[in-house]
Amino acid sequence: MRFLLRVLAIFIAVSALLSMVRRMLAVLASPRAEHPLRSSAGGRLAKDPVCGTYIPVETAIQARNQFFCSEECRGKYLGA
Ligand SMILES: [Zn+2]
Repeated sequence: MRFLLRVLAIFIAVSALLSMVRRMLAVLASPRAEHPLRSSAGGRLAKDPVCGTYIPVETAIQARNQFFCSEECRGKYLGA
């Protein structure tokens, strides 16, 4: 009977520890999951050197370390 009680006590302790770890992991995981959304929402803007438009770096067309709003502007820049 004593043995059973000890096993039960260990089981309760382990399950309590596991739920604590799971809660900690959830807290740690949530800011990491939000991060990509946050960075794309407040994305960096780059200036198109041809037409002067500001475009988000994520959607801009890149060439020679410059960012362009369209293929047309990139063509003008590279052709000039
Ligand atoms: Zn442009």
